[in-house]
Amino acid sequence: MKRVYVNPEVCIGCHICELACMTGHSQSKDLIIAFRDEQAQGLIPRNTVDHAGWISASLSCRHCDEPACVQACISGALTKDKESGRVVYDEEQCVGCWSCLMACSFGAIKRHPIKEKIVKCDLCPGRDVPACVAACPNEALEFAEK
Ligand code: SF4
Ligand code: SF4
Repeated sequence: MKRVYVNPEVCIGCHICELACMTGHSQSKDLIIAFRDEQAQGLIPRNTVDHAGWISASLSCRHCDEPACVQACISGALTKDKESGRVVYDEEQCVGCWSCLMACSFGAIKRHPIKEKIVKCDLCPGRDVPACVAACPNEALEFAEK
């Protein structure tokens, strides 16, 4: 399956990928409205740009072959889609127990800032290239099958 691969050597830590993720998952699909208005209603990016000294990288769900989050999920809210390989999240079924959040060794799952729910990367269904990858000005993100 295709995944988002990170090249920390050329990531400049600009956070544009976070803004693109947030805008891509917003109601308005407008950067300014998403950042100014929808963020206050709980919209957050599904990736996180982490910094360690001069090194930075965008971290998001790896859509693991044997996902620890799916095994840990007590409600069936997280499943591994056999066809696409994506780890799919159904918010309706999530009971906010945080088992997946503790099980993921990549720290790829976030708590929703308002609801007792999680937020994770969905690889932007409907797009040929995920929003974060398309927005990176330095090609530090690649969507590829390796
Ligand atoms: S949330 Fe974590 S454990 Fe689950 S598939 Fe993504 S990277 Fe793997
Ligand atoms: S692939 Fe899509 S959902 Fe995942 S981090 Fe990138 S923009 Fe966000």
